[in-house]
Amino acid sequence: MVGRPLKPQTKIFRDFEIETPSGDIKTLKEILICCPICHSSHVGNHGTRKRGNTRVQIYQCKNPNCAFLKHANQGKQFTIYSSLMVNSIVNHYLHEILAKLFKSEGKLINIRKNYSLSPSLMSYLNKKTL
Ligand SMILES: [Zn+2]
Repeated sequence: MVGRPLKPQTKIFRDFEIETPSGDIKTLKEILICCPICHSSHVGNHGTRKRGNTRVQIYQCKNPNCAFLKHANQGKQFTIYSSLMVNSIVNHYLHEILAKLFKSEGKLINIRKNYSLSPSLMSYLNKKTL
């Protein structure tokens, strides 16, 4: 056998803080880090990247059958923010916020006017809701 011995596969769990629409900070305990592409929990740490004044942990998908590998020769790299669970939790809150907005403002164009959202955020929201 050549190279480093294979590390045993371990699942990665992290705590994550999220601010809810009502302004509460919720700590989500032991979120399982999963690949956003293949949803596998077979992921590893992949160092950190600078983001503003802090550094964020990067994870990399280690699933040999990940769809990402069809057009890349390395596993998908992602942060806790884009990992599967956190992404779906954030989407859940986003939907909640949008549902409230649609109830009170009616149309997306009104929401844009009243909250002066950027065009890129608007097109993101459009994709999420249509
Ligand atoms: Zn993957």
